[in-house]
Amino acid sequence: MAIKEQPKLPRFRIVANILLAISGLFLLLNIFLPGLFGSNPTGVPYSLFIHQVQEGEVNRVSVGQSQIIYQLKTESGQPGQVFATTPIFDLELPKLLEQKGVEFAAAPPPKNTWFTTLLSWVVPPLIFIAVWQFFISRGGGSQGVLSIGKSKAKVYVEGESAKITFQDVAGVEEAKTELVEIVDFLKTPGRFTQIGARIPKGVLLVGPPGTGKTLLAKAVAGEAGVPFFSISGSEFVELFVGVGSSRVRDLFEQAKKQAPCIVFIDELDAIGKSRSSNGFYGGNDEREQTLNQLLTEMDGFAAGDATVIVLAATNRPESLDPALLRPGRFDRQVLVDRPDLSGREAILKIHAQKVKLGDDVNLKAIATRTPGFAGADLANLVNEAALLAARNQRQTVAQEDFAEAIERVVAGLEKKSRVLSDTEKKIVAYHEVGHAMVGALTTGNGRVEKISIIPRGMAALGYTLQLPTEDRFLMNEGELRGQIATLLGGRSAEEIVFGSITTGASNDLQRATDLAERMVTTYGMSKVLGPLAYQQGQQAAFLGNGAPNPRRMVSEDTAKAIDSEVKEIVETAHEQALQILTQNRDLLEAIATQLLETEVIEGEKLHSLLNQVQPITAS
Ligand code: ADP
Ligand code: MG
Ligand code: ZN
Repeated sequence: MAIKEQPKLPRFRIVANILLAISGLFLLLNIFLPGLFGSNPTGVPYSLFIHQVQEGEVNRVSVGQSQIIYQLKTESGQPGQVFATTPIFDLELPKLLEQKGVEFAAAPPPKNTWFTTLLSWVVPPLIFIAVWQFFISRGGGSQGVLSIGKSKAKVYVEGESAKITFQDVAGVEEAKTELVEIVDFLKTPGRFTQIGARIPKGVLLVGPPGTGKTLLAKAVAGEAGVPFFSISGSEFVELFVGVGSSRVRDLFEQAKKQAPCIVFIDELDAIGKSRSSNGFYGGNDEREQTLNQLLTEMDGFAAGDATVIVLAATNRPESLDPALLRPGRFDRQVLVDRPDLSGREAILKIHAQKVKLGDDVNLKAIATRTPGFAGADLANLVNEAALLAARNQRQTVAQEDFAEAIERVVAGLEKKSRVLSDTEKKIVAYHEVGHAMVGALTTGNGRVEKISIIPRGMAALGYTLQLPTEDRFLMNEGELRGQIATLLGGRSAEEIVFGSITTGASNDLQRATDLAERMVTTYGMSKVLGPLAYQQGQQAAFLGNGAPNPRRMVSEDTAKAIDSEVKEIVETAHEQALQILTQNRDLLEAIATQLLETEVIEGEKLHSLLNQVQPITAS
């Protein structure tokens, strides 16, 4: 695919800049070196001038508005020395001069040469233009003033270089099926119009970031072999009101000329935000106008018109203006979701083609360990693994490189440089073993695969790596409670062993409390509060000032009840964790001691240790 950019219009800009430079230079010369253009008398203070007048030393004075120039008397009658001073507002001066018999006159008004006149007319507008250009170029454009309204769309036209097809996209089979139809529309519109079917105008790709929306749009263009105009929603939003909408107009004008073709608007939410919920500064006129223009354009091309299909992508469909989703606009929505197990394997396969894989690599196993990863994450994972292999001087990428890469993505980079004191290390070790042991007994966490007291990532001093054994889309109450207990396992171990608590558990507590709150306010899992959603939907979640207001308006009693339910859930989980750890105290000591020695326990060894954890017996 070749990328063609719109032709630029640089000539005006160059001329303007040269003019600006020249006039600036003259201006500087004029200000700092006025002597170049005339005699340059020595400046003296006004008081000295008055003194000299009073002493009768002054011969002649020329009084100007901004300068007084005077000449001293000499014995010989020769022209004397000339001085200059800056006048103050002094009405007595003429009287004084007359008294002393000094010859004086007003200076002639400064003669405006053609040159200074020209300067005063030319310089200010040029400065204005320069400032203007500065702002425009900051706005992200490489184009000159005159092309301000032109669309910045990149046009991908099918060409020599690698073209993207559906082969390059995996794990989003439903989306592909829907889009194959769009390809058919573009290739053979006649087949559809002949029976009177209306060809859809707008298709909205909806899904989390990195799931391949942009990639899919390019693949549609590649498959259909039609031109592909691509622009990002954020590029429409400009400094100047009205620019965005004229860009939209230009874009569609060009597209219609090239039909059949695809217009792809990435990040549609940047312009398509609901007009009622707009946030800062009491509304954004520019965005609204751009949006209106887009709606007009989409309504504009009628059935008989050339086939222009508008694809758009967003990860925040709930924030879009409902007007965008009406029939005849983006009435088709295609969900591009995170891939499932087999999807992840397929995506890994695509990206693994680019690297040399070792014989031991098992893509399926990697896919199993990466639930929740989007396509972009998987692409990144393959690259990380390849980088690690290269760093380890390997010729091919091995399975262990992938394992390390996953860990990097999940837990962050290892920080060998952070040195913990022995006491800290001990606390961290018990803390992590606490997580692991509670995690081993409760469901909903996945399997504990590794505990480590080597610092890694943003905050972790040590960490417990739990990897799911299967994809989970639903969690039940028991599993959520299990997760909360596991999060509190670290702190509980500290309590039991050291009798005191450190600051290390703050992140655990944060997550546990969040989870408990969600159980109560979003999932309706509290018996007291019932199956009500106390969290507001995203649409209404933004007030006029743009600040999120996640909780519905509730009465004071309800708020109290929510708080006490959340507290109850967390405390019950805490109790459970404490019980598990007290009843398995010996094992806790044993594993922690071992962890302190080896710093990392993982794999089979860890599994066999954790299998020894005894469930709570009623006491
Ligand atoms: P989005 O637009 O949804 O945020 P992108 O299309 O920009 O995501 O994806 C970024 C990159 O991630 C792609 O260029 C591709 O390399 C990879 N990728 C994402 N999803 C997939 C997928 N489903 N199949 C293959 N590669 C993918
Ligand atoms: Mg994208
Ligand atoms: Zn912890």
